Amino acid sequence: MKCYICAKQGVDSEAVAICIVCGMGLCLGHAFKEALEVKDIIDWGFGEEKIVYPHTLPRFICAECKLAIEQRKRKPKSE
Ligand SMILES: [Zn+2]
Ligand SMILES: [Zn+2]
Repeated sequence: MKCYICAKQGVDSEAVAICIVCGMGLCLGHAFKEALEVKDIIDWGFGEEKIVYPHTLPRFICAECKLAIEQRKRKPKSE
């Protein structure tokens, strides 16, 4: 697979990753790697234990999808 963004610019780059959201092929320069936390909440009967594991899940994403997801995380402006 080729990098979609590079291909649109007329550059021939081999894709090294695929965007998990849109499925676009991405080269090293156009792929963003995010780390998803792996969490568990275990109910022991006498209380809950929240665990965040040391190893994260890698997630490859393109610039467009990253932007679309990040816009939701932002708090509304107070102005
Ligand atoms: Zn590229
Ligand atoms: Zn994408």
